[in-house]
Amino acid sequence: MGGVGSGRYGAGYVKSKDIVENRLTFSIRFFSKAFNDTGLSSFTLHSPTNSRKVLGSGIVNPDEMYISLSYSNLELRIYVDQTPCHYGGVRYWFICSSCGRRSSKLYGDNIGLACRTCCNLNYYSQQHTKTDSYYYQRKAEQVARKIDKEYKYNLNRPFPAKPKYMKWIAYQKLWCKFKKYSELSFQYWLRGAYKFLDLNKDFKQ
Ligand SMILES: [Zn+2]
Repeated sequence: MGGVGSGRYGAGYVKSKDIVENRLTFSIRFFSKAFNDTGLSSFTLHSPTNSRKVLGSGIVNPDEMYISLSYSNLELRIYVDQTPCHYGGVRYWFICSSCGRRSSKLYGDNIGLACRTCCNLNYYSQQHTKTDSYYYQRKAEQVARKIDKEYKYNLNRPFPAKPKYMKWIAYQKLWCKFKKYSELSFQYWLRGAYKFLDLNKDFKQ
């Protein structure tokens, strides 16, 4: 079968921001050709993290404007809408089954498929990373403030010097805690940065 059928073609292979969540991405771009034709065409769904792994399959039905999908014990039907283009032709859209709005991308998990807004993907990944890094910064700061009440967390600011009254063993314990939180904060920050870089790399391909 032709259309969005073979090889790397088809949903699930499309890389996007949601990759960081290991979600399947369905981009209408990959179905446009199939909707321009008549008759059914089939495609396979590949894992977003491993393009050789097949997760399921689907059938495009351009005559009735929908895509049937089967993966992870789900049987789904995604309806498709079309709007006219400025320069002729039509543009296709998924209809998000959750909010009913048109969307060029849908994101899948083992519950179903929905648009970015409904999945809250953007919000979730940004907030989560930011919060985790910030959370450990505050923890590190709290430890440092046991020595210096004015201490403000900053990567370039060293841990406060040992006060004369403090025993070395107590000081070192605090220093170890500070180091641990500081590293955790950095790791979460880095994870966010990598996600960002990955995303841009994918877009450039
Ligand atoms: Zn939606």
